Amino acid sequence: MRVDVLTIFPGYFASPLGESLLGQAIDSGLLDVRLVDLRAFSDDPHRKVDDEPYGGGPGMVLAAPPVIAALEELRAEPPLPHVVFLTPAGRRLDAALARELAARERLVLVCGRYEGIDERVREVGVFDEEVSLGDFVLSGGEVAALAVIEAVSRYVSGVVGDAESVEKDSFEDGLLDHPHYTRPRLLRGLPVPEVLFSGHHEKIRRWRRERQLEETARRRPDLFAKAPLSEEDRKLLARLARGDESG
Ligand code: SAH
Repeated sequence: MRVDVLTIFPGYFASPLGESLLGQAIDSGLLDVRLVDLRAFSDDPHRKVDDEPYGGGPGMVLAAPPVIAALEELRAEPPLPHVVFLTPAGRRLDAALARELAARERLVLVCGRYEGIDERVREVGVFDEEVSLGDFVLSGGEVAALAVIEAVSRYVSGVVGDAESVEKDSFEDGLLDHPHYTRPRLLRGLPVPEVLFSGHHEKIRRWRRERQLEETARRRPDLFAKAPLSEEDRKLLARLARGDESG
């Protein structure tokens, strides 16, 4: 999968794209991330890309011409990209959106800065989609672009070594993940749940499913209400309601 990132801070991405799973995915060619410097598309001798807002007020605005020029050049190069603008006004990033984006052959991620981008860039129609990280304001789209790259790359085959681990992550079945434990067996008086030492795979699977159901119901009732529950899930829940835990 190819991802082009349009930014005024290409250097921002060096370390996150060089480490761990993303670093390996890029080294092995599963992921081709290209950093495109917006300043290269400025006509200004000082490569200026921002200007004062019409109507006055604080801050600067990213000017439209360099952004449009960059996106037209990127679009002209095959394969045709899906162009995503990172903005607090966009669709909130979640697992479903990450999966959708991962199905694209090529993404272009556009990072705003300052007060944002001249509104006419949207009106010209160079964005295919607008994505937000959440209801808070970042100083630029770079962190949001990294979050998109990392969340999306987990669905690109081969990026996460054990595909099963992606399938078992939170949200994949509409529920939060179950808790995980490792050594030591006793930590500050807190034991690891006994069932995990039973060697009984079916019991462990049921216990983990119960924890998923219970934690999601308690911590994210909004998710739980929408989760597609199986017949077994309903039985496990009924048992939990009777205070009759497996294990
Ligand atoms: N004035 C704007 C915020 C501009 S922040 C407003 O109040 O909506 C500068 C840039 O950071 C934005 O153009 C966008 O690219 C990025 N950004 C800020 N918050 C973001 C968020 N929650 N999700 C995605 N991108 C964000």
